[in-house]
Amino acid sequence: MAGYSVDPDVKFVKEIQKLGGESLKKCFQCATCSVICPLSSDEKPFPRKEMIWAQWGLKDKLVKNSDIWACHQCGDCSTYCPRGARPGDVVAAARAYAIREYAFPRFMGNLVGEGKYLPVILAIPLAIILLVLAALGNLKIPAGEIVYSKFLPIKFVDSIFLPFAGLAIISLGLGVRKFWNEMSPSRYRHLVGRNFFKSLLETIGEIVGHVRFKKCGTNVGRFTAHLAVFYGFVGLFATTTMVVFYEYILHRETPLPLYDPAKILGNISAIILFIGISLVIRNRLANPDQSSSYFDWSLILMIFGVVTSGILTELLRLANIANLAYPMYVVHLMFVFYIIGYLPYSKLAHMVYRTVALAYKRQVETIGM
Ligand code: SF4
Ligand code: SF4
Repeated sequence: MAGYSVDPDVKFVKEIQKLGGESLKKCFQCATCSVICPLSSDEKPFPRKEMIWAQWGLKDKLVKNSDIWACHQCGDCSTYCPRGARPGDVVAAARAYAIREYAFPRFMGNLVGEGKYLPVILAIPLAIILLVLAALGNLKIPAGEIVYSKFLPIKFVDSIFLPFAGLAIISLGLGVRKFWNEMSPSRYRHLVGRNFFKSLLETIGEIVGHVRFKKCGTNVGRFTAHLAVFYGFVGLFATTTMVVFYEYILHRETPLPLYDPAKILGNISAIILFIGISLVIRNRLANPDQSSSYFDWSLILMIFGVVTSGILTELLRLANIANLAYPMYVVHLMFVFYIIGYLPYSKLAHMVYRTVALAYKRQVETIGM
């Protein structure tokens, strides 16, 4: 009988533990988690197999596995695990590791993923913004009515953000391509690629409706919080698109009046995002058993930072407190940069990896592979 040799990657096991899967060694493979998981399928159940791959340090199997992206960390499996191995947290740690593994360039994944580099990560956009302000001779607080577009004209904001947004898109694309190539066996890739667009559209429809989230039982509060964060971001993205249209096509002056449709949409979206991220923080704090690694908290706090500084930027302008309004605007831009410029390396990248993995799973199920 042919033997099967396992070459465990001990460093990988330690990394998974550091990323929130510290209890993974408690698992004794009873499979309760795979039975309990509301998102697991009979044909390809999870997360029992992911637990043994994590225990054995089988990095290559775990990281390229589409099933780790099918999990929404609802915690149902962790609640019922008789050994307290917290499989939901282990799978979440595997996703965090995967984002770092596929990061391009790799060192950026380590920089954004490690708490000790946060000051550097935030200092980069801050320094760029301050340098541009210095070049414009606007490092002092301007007198008169508060108009952010005179302090830092929109074309300069765009000249800072657009190149970094472009780089972020390219980096994310390269990371996702590598993930795709590892996830889909080359002999089947042409089959999976066929009609993939249809599976992708169906997956996006499912994500927009948060259909899979609704199936989670134990941690139902995550559904509302995630939904609010998701739609808050969607609203703010639509607002940004409208403002770009106003600026470059209609040549409208800013600040926009409070009754302008873009302003109304932006303010409502900001409130929804603020409520959503506050609920996320409350849920995490109220559930100390759930693993919360630096990778989780860094994105949560950056989203809280971007929405809070955005709301304060507007309120301070309306209250005409220039000494606070302009510095707050700079802080807000720094947070915006974090969200956009570091997207391929932060937890936010899960939006893209999850979408691609779920579409892949759907396609594989459709063609019966
Ligand atoms: S993680 Fe827990 S429930 Fe799942 S197989 Fe291991 S011991 Fe059983
Ligand atoms: S956390 Fe929820 S979705 Fe993820 S494996 Fe466990 S039961 Fe399934």
